[in-house]
Amino acid sequence: MNMDFKRKLPTPKEIKEMYPISEEIADVKKANDKEIQDVFTGKSDKFILVIGPCSADREDAVLDYISRLRNVQEKVKDKIVIIPRIYTNKPRTTGDGYKGMLHQPNPNEKPDMLKGLIAIRKLHMKAIEETGFSCADEMLYPENHRYLSDLLSYVAIGARSVENQQHRLTASGLDIPVGMKNPTSGDISVMMNSITAAQHPHTFIYRGWEVESKGNPMAHAILRGYVNKHGQSQPNYHYEDLMFLADTYAKTSLENPAVIVDANHANSGKKWEQQVRISKEILESTRYSKDVYKLVKGLMIESYIEDGCQKAEEGVYGKSITDPCLGWEKTERLILDIADMR
Ligand code: PEP
Ligand code: MN
Repeated sequence: MNMDFKRKLPTPKEIKEMYPISEEIADVKKANDKEIQDVFTGKSDKFILVIGPCSADREDAVLDYISRLRNVQEKVKDKIVIIPRIYTNKPRTTGDGYKGMLHQPNPNEKPDMLKGLIAIRKLHMKAIEETGFSCADEMLYPENHRYLSDLLSYVAIGARSVENQQHRLTASGLDIPVGMKNPTSGDISVMMNSITAAQHPHTFIYRGWEVESKGNPMAHAILRGYVNKHGQSQPNYHYEDLMFLADTYAKTSLENPAVIVDANHANSGKKWEQQVRISKEILESTRYSKDVYKLVKGLMIESYIEDGCQKAEEGVYGKSITDPCLGWEKTERLILDIADMR
């Protein structure tokens, strides 16, 4: 084999024993899960914001950012449920570049997977302990989900993973909402097939076990825009796209039809400042059709303390080292405006 098996890593059970959560924190997550799930099942009319930096590059800035979200959450709690993004593992288009805190707890040092596993667990733990938020992460490596399964309230399957069987089967065994992104090509049928697979029960191999999943009725769609054959970003957040998705859902027997619309990525063409306009357009679209209103459960927004992005070496506190983000002031204004429009 052309790789070196360097060391055996602790299992999720072992890491959870090393860094356990208290009963009180488990109850906080349970309450958050319930509030979020009520939105997906239609019991609650609140609007979800999955919001935060593209990648969680350093603990201090991420916790600072999330504590700011907590203050805003209190102001808009009648209308909005915030789920902070703490994205600790990043898919890379070519495979090169920063792969997230899981690989590099310090983005300017060499990868260290043991330190990474501990760093991401500690970060998600501190987030809930210090702010009461149980957060969202991308489920990039399905077999790693259980390192964080007692802490997360939401996961997304990324545009580059959504056609993958192991992601779909693992999603079918989770008891939290899983957002399936449309693939980078924009093919909506791939996303719908992924939601179908995740909503159904399966028998498969997971971490060396034969497992039986029950199916996840809260698996749903995320529209993130797509790239055409000329490599240009194309949006899929407009009213017509939302109507099309509502019609597509109506032809299926899927449970809890739902979409979270990602305002960045190919929807903004990574023009991060456009997320404000895009978010407001989506809120506006929900006013024109009951079906769209019911379908759109929330937004995904890439936001951090500073506007834009930087190279990892630059080391500016609270500025994204992956996709460009909306800075704090604009973010706070946007959340308050969304609450007013709702
Ligand atoms: C992300 O949410 O930062 C991300 C990588 O998204 P996508 O899978 O849509 O590219
Ligand atoms: Mn991103």
